[in-house]
This record gives sequence, C-alpha cells and structure tokens, in this order.
Amino acid sequence: MNLIFLGPPGSGKGTQAVRLAKEKGWVHLSTGDVLRAAVKAGTELGKQADGFMTRGELVPDELIVSLIEEKIAAGELANGFILDGFPRTVPQAKSLDEMFGKNKIKLDKAILLDVGDEEILKRIMGRAEKEGRADDTPDVVRNRLKVYREQTQPIENLYREQSVLTPIPGEDTPDNIYAAILKVVS
Ligand code: ADP
Repeated sequence: MNLIFLGPPGSGKGTQAVRLAKEKGWVHLSTGDVLRAAVKAGTELGKQADGFMTRGELVPDELIVSLIEEKIAAGELANGFILDGFPRTVPQAKSLDEMFGKNKIKLDKAILLDVGDEEILKRIMGRAEKEGRADDTPDVVRNRLKVYREQTQPIENLYREQSVLTPIPGEDTPDNIYAAILKVVS
C-alpha cells in the first residue's frame, strides 16, 4: 500500500509509521529524519535546512520536493511506502500529485492522526526531557503547531476531495491507535 501519514507534531505518526512499515515491509520515509541526518552529517542539504528547523519553520518547498523526487527516481517508493512529514504545504501536496501521476503511483490513503493542541503541548514537553531534540522547546513547539495549523492542515481538503482522507482519533494508547490503523489498511 501507498500511504501518507498526516497529523500535528507529537501526534505519534512517526511511532505508528515505523511500526506499520516494519510489520508490512513497506518503506518508511520521514522527511524530518532525513533532514536531521543531513544536518548531523553536515551535507549541503543539512546546511540549508538547519536554521529553519531550529526555529520550527518549514524548510523551503524546493529543497524537500527535490529530495522526494530523488527517492522516487531511485525506485525507493516502488513497493509500498509510508510518507511521514511530507507533504506539509499545499504546493508540496500538488507537486507530489504530479510526481505520482508521472510515475504511475497510486495513493491509497492519507491517514490523519487527530490530536488537539493541549494534548500536543503536553506530549512534546514530555518528549523534550527524554530526547533533547533541539526544536522541542516551548516557543519552538508552539511555532511548529501554528505552522501545522496554518500551512499543513489545509492539505486535508485535497485528500478529502480525492476520497483518500482517513481520520483516526489520536488521543488514545499507542496500541489502540495502531489497531485502528491496521483496520483501515487491511
Ligand atoms: P514534527 O512533525 O514533530 O514537527 P518532523 O521530524 O516531521 O517533526 O520535522 C522536523 C522539522 O523538519 C520541521 O519543523 C521542519 O523544519 C522540517 N521539515 C520536515 N519535513 C518537512 C517538509 N515536508 N517541508 C518542510 N520542512 C520540513
């Protein structure tokens, strides 16, 4: 299956995507992970992305779209995938539609993990203590949430129009959420 996972930062989509991809043998592509690795390795992409990420802003669409283009060209998305963290803006979603069209890739579902702002802030502050991610400070988290509501949430409409949007309540235990996801992909 070819899936997109949508949901605010801290919605648990990364955790769920990793688990599902492993069980099903699909590729899990997290643009956040790819960017963090690039920053760590000091590559050109990493240098360009670093400042945006630290401020909780989105990196420019062109950077991230060419990254996905490369993965598709390399055949990495040929046998089932979960996109996690992409697309994140309406232009990214439109570019992705085009890339899918050109490469005869059919999107099966866009799974949306629904979690409210209050719960998000609580969760990310907990994660910050454990993982020490540079963009998990209160101000930056609030900004990431604002960016999500303003720039990412509008893409839900696109997937609703394509009849692939599948909302799942995300304020539950990880196991219950996983069970709900399994139901919609089987
Ligand atoms: P979260 O969803 O918890 O905010 P991610 O790991 O998905 O975390 O992303 C971390 C950061 O990486 C984002 O705040 C943003 O700066 C950058 N990023 C990741 N994916 C994209 C994307 N598709 N477009 C633009 N920026 C992105």
